[in-house]
Amino acid sequence: MDIVKGNMGWIEVVVGPMFSGKSEELIRRLRRAEIARQRVQIFKPAIDSRYTANEIVSHSGLGIPSDNVSKASEILEKLQPRTEVVGIDEAQFLGDEVVEVCTKLANLGKRVIVAGLDTDYRGRPFEPMPRLLAVAEEITKLLAICVRCGNPAVHTQRLVDSEELIVVGATEMYEARCRRCFEPNPAQARKEAGPVIMPRIRGAANGAA
Ligand code: ADP
Ligand code: ZN
Repeated sequence: MDIVKGNMGWIEVVVGPMFSGKSEELIRRLRRAEIARQRVQIFKPAIDSRYTANEIVSHSGLGIPSDNVSKASEILEKLQPRTEVVGIDEAQFLGDEVVEVCTKLANLGKRVIVAGLDTDYRGRPFEPMPRLLAVAEEITKLLAICVRCGNPAVHTQRLVDSEELIVVGATEMYEARCRRCFEPNPAQARKEAGPVIMPRIRGAANGAA
């Protein structure tokens, strides 16, 4: 971003569903800052231990070292005064406090680059990301590819039955879906559709396939 000149900080937010390339984009921006010899610090919530503990890793395998934090205020505690760029991944797991922390960092003159899910598994706004979007200078919304139909995907489909807001784990638990293929409540949809009558497969009873 080049509209802000001089010693001023700002907030850039990268949002989208899972698999949309948020981590890739965050890593790309941070790498470029490092190439420009800027001092960079990178944080992610300890809750997301995808692949490795002290690294942000994208689904395509790109990685960059990071510091784990259990809450947003830890970012301020770990901040080195000479840091110029602060990267934060999976910000949706850091709670409301992350908005205040990012604002403080930007007011201190830091370039803050934050990535996170803007909607949850039901398609609802995922706090605190909407609030971060409201205070950001620059917003990038990325889309994934719908695994059902190949159209641009804005949603994160949960593939396991759970009402918990946060189910972190294997990426096989989620997939990217477009607005047409997205099922916000698959368990309910199954109930409404009634019992599924399985067709008899000839020969299946005696073990022949
Ligand atoms: P995010 O941080 O948004 O979850 P990542 O940056 O970790 O995304 O991963 C993006 C990469 O995921 C893509 O470059 C691609 O290699 C891979 N990928 C896997 N499934 C999909 C999909 N359905 N749509 C787009 N990319 C996908
Ligand atoms: Zn689709």
